[in-house]
Amino acid sequence: MRRAGRDSGPRIAVVGAGIGGLTLAAALRTAGVPCVVYEQTREFSEIGAGVQLAPNAVRPLRRLGLGPALDEHAVRIDAVEFRTWQGASIARTELGAECERLFGAPYYSVHRAHLHEALRERAEPASLRPGRRLLRVEEHADRVRLVFEDGTVHEADVVVGADGIHSVVRDALVRDAPVFSGLSAFRGLVPADRVSPAARQPRVRLWLGPGGHFVCYPVSGGELISFAAIAALDVPPAESWSATADPASVRTAFDGWHGSVSEILHAAGQVRHWALHDREPLHHWSTDRLTVLGDAAHPMLPFMAQGANQAVEDAMDLAVCLAGARLDTVPAALRRYQSLRAPRTAGIQRRSRDSAAGLHLPDGPEQQARDEAMRRSAAPRHRAWLYSYETEDTRSPLTR
Ligand SMILES: Cc1cc2nc3c(=O)[nH]c(=O)nc-3n(C[C@H](O)[C@H](O)[C@H](O)COP(=O)(O)OP(=O)(O)OC[C@H]3O[C@@H](n4cnc5c(N)ncnc54)[C@H](O)[C@@H]3O)c2cc1C
Repeated sequence: MRRAGRDSGPRIAVVGAGIGGLTLAAALRTAGVPCVVYEQTREFSEIGAGVQLAPNAVRPLRRLGLGPALDEHAVRIDAVEFRTWQGASIARTELGAECERLFGAPYYSVHRAHLHEALRERAEPASLRPGRRLLRVEEHADRVRLVFEDGTVHEADVVVGADGIHSVVRDALVRDAPVFSGLSAFRGLVPADRVSPAARQPRVRLWLGPGGHFVCYPVSGGELISFAAIAALDVPPAESWSATADPASVRTAFDGWHGSVSEILHAAGQVRHWALHDREPLHHWSTDRLTVLGDAAHPMLPFMAQGANQAVEDAMDLAVCLAGARLDTVPAALRRYQSLRAPRTAGIQRRSRDSAAGLHLPDGPEQQARDEAMRRSAAPRHRAWLYSYETEDTRSPLTR
């Protein structure tokens, strides 16, 4: 990596070109700050699955210029519907125009590959280094050394670990390990013309049952339906983004559930399998020269659909903190970033973990009380604490 002269800004290395790392690269570019992004895979790509983007991420992504790409490829969600596993309505959160009015942006569902591609286009192409798998970082008083699997060694003044739940950069900051939830996610995509019209509506639909739940929504402009079946199935644990599962075993686990659930599972060809892990929240995740963002900082169970959204928030706040930082003010910038982000993301990690038990109750009085509570809190204004987040620094071009 280029050695900066005394007057130039810090050399920033980002490890990982997932949604978090690329959002940071795009935000730094918008702020006029150079960086280099190292990614282990040889081809920049994302897995075949959907992701829900809430207004807290859509507002900043629009500021980075992704508005046209989201309008073209994503689906504007008009509501989130919760049902029992047999199909009875529990609650409905109206989004659509109400979401735009309250939170200044729509709620989208998008194919991860489309979001990834749009972010890649906003990052400086010359900054991306594929095929570089980081083995370790060595922090010194005046620089950080990055040691890669291919034998190369690079130097930087600041290293941002955006390298996911098994982060190598996090390993240099804290000794901990992923915690298995006991649950797995079985995910896939189904062509929309292979399911009934109800599944094609611009809606997130969830069915909640004993020990598991099922969620689906359209992506790719409505051409595909993305689904995730969450259950504690007795299959070997898989944490890889590419492990597959036998569709028949997933269908068996959801046997007897509402017709829309079995219709989608029967239409599914390939089903991918994730064993769901998180980690304990961190309160300190930065040193003078190292920090982390996204799943590297706060991996969470996917039950609030906020992991990628929080990675976008992190990236925007970190870019605001690093914009204008000099070599001697980098430690303060990283401390500020940590203080902005750690309390909020720790709270969302905990809520995501706690919500599993409530979502998966057996039928009975507790489940009925939960349904009643969900109805009472279904109005979108109850999500204001989550969807209205903005960084405090209103002087930055990234916040306008
Ligand atoms: C079933 C399921 C459903 C979900 N649904 C949603 C949702 O609807 N909304 C939402 O907001 N979130 C959702 N999430 C969470 C979301 O997918 C993650 O929080 C998000 O992808 C994290 O992004 P990231 O960039 O931090 O990490 P990652 O996406 O894991 O990216 C890390 C990148 O770093 C690279 N990398 C890793 N190690 C190295 C290394 N040593 N050297 C170089 N590169 C490396 C990887 O190849 C990868 O490109 C869901 C998760 C699951 C499992």
